[in-house]
Amino acid sequence: MSKKIAIVEDEAELASLIEYNLSRGGFQSKIFPGGDRTLEDLRDWQPDLIILDVMLPGQDGFEICRRIRQTPALSSRPVVFLTARSDEVDRVLGLEIGGDDYITKPFSPRELVARIKAHLRRSETVAAPSADTAELLRGPFRVDRAARRVYVNEREIELTSTEFRLLEFFLAHPGHAWSREQLLKEVWGEQHFVTPRTVDVHIRRLREQIEDKPDEPGYLVTVRGFGYRFEITESAA
Ligand code: CA
Repeated sequence: MSKKIAIVEDEAELASLIEYNLSRGGFQSKIFPGGDRTLEDLRDWQPDLIILDVMLPGQDGFEICRRIRQTPALSSRPVVFLTARSDEVDRVLGLEIGGDDYITKPFSPRELVARIKAHLRRSETVAAPSADTAELLRGPFRVDRAARRVYVNEREIELTSTEFRLLEFFLAHPGHAWSREQLLKEVWGEQHFVTPRTVDVHIRRLREQIEDKPDEPGYLVTVRGFGYRFEITESAA
């Protein structure tokens, strides 16, 4: 069955252009023009991924994304923001919003489709674990891959799908130093539109979730001039 992509965009022409390109890419899509019922309509339709414009009538994309993250039926779905200005990017990737990706207008529909495919491939990989790797245990961390849930000392933490993949990757490779470029390749996949700074922003968000003192990380440490390393010893549990 083809994947369902929600297009939350109030510019009708742009929305149809995206819809057209998605259907050519083999996706089922539906346009949501914004407004008060957007969250309820998304919940009813159950999209696999949400394309979310920032500037919308009524609630803006940031507010809708925040509410998506608080809605259990939608919270783990990738959200790709459409931003009109590059200064919105900081907010998209900021701690309080929880977007997985962004694309700045004007953009090529072909690039958008490529990016959506990459996101869906990754969520599929995570969603269909083989039986023997369904759970990953490291120190105080427990990753339930099938349910896409992470627990620290049996307390569940709330992660976006990108944060989930990033943490899962680090936990699977403890003690190894990774450059930003390597992380982009391993966690984000072959995408040319994300920059090394994207990695830093997601690392910061992840630290807020897993570290006692995010400014003095004990797990996700910076390897100066290179990248990041996840430090964990089994006795840390
Ligand atoms: Ca708009």
